[in-house]
Amino acid sequence: MIQPTDVAPGVDLYVGLGANLGEAADTLLHAADRLARTPGILNLRLSPLYRSAPVDSSGPDYINAVAHARTALPPQAVLTLLQAIEQEHGRQRPYRNAPRTLDLDLLLYGDRRINEPTLIVPHPRMHERAFVLRPLADLAPGLILAQGRLEDLLAGCIDQAIRPLR
Ligand code: ADP
Ligand code: MG
Repeated sequence: MIQPTDVAPGVDLYVGLGANLGEAADTLLHAADRLARTPGILNLRLSPLYRSAPVDSSGPDYINAVAHARTALPPQAVLTLLQAIEQEHGRQRPYRNAPRTLDLDLLLYGDRRINEPTLIVPHPRMHERAFVLRPLADLAPGLILAQGRLEDLLAGCIDQAIRPLR
């Protein structure tokens, strides 16, 4: 069978990246680069970086972005990979929603719905967070989530301050 040449095999993977300690923008760029260089992660694209005020968290503003890639890795392997990259950047979890040097969340894995103790996909809070929806809209305009159209969900987050980093 003839395969299209412009789409890598696997499923569409979306990852949310956030940091609010240290050199947050550099951390995000390094993390995205590390992800892109991982076998099984193909054609990675990183959204522009954004600055947002902490939601359910504390400390300095967050720098946020979303990455899209194609992957043949199973979802649990992706989660393990994301947690390994968090650890490489010195992630500590002193308490829930503490400030963090790097947070990597598995947002979407194709259209799979996953409900396991360690992994819930789509990410359960992504549809109500401007810092996810805004960069996601840069990569996937018009995307339809279970809760509605991306741009409509973003319009519902008008009260959450977010702006492009530069
Ligand atoms: P936050 O919810 O603020 O991102 P953490 O990054 O500390 O909090 O993640 C806490 C736990 O969330 C992790 O141990 C992980 O097993 C679990 N988890 C469940 N679903 C997901 C997902 N889609 N992406 C990342 N972590 C997830
Ligand atoms: Mg997380």
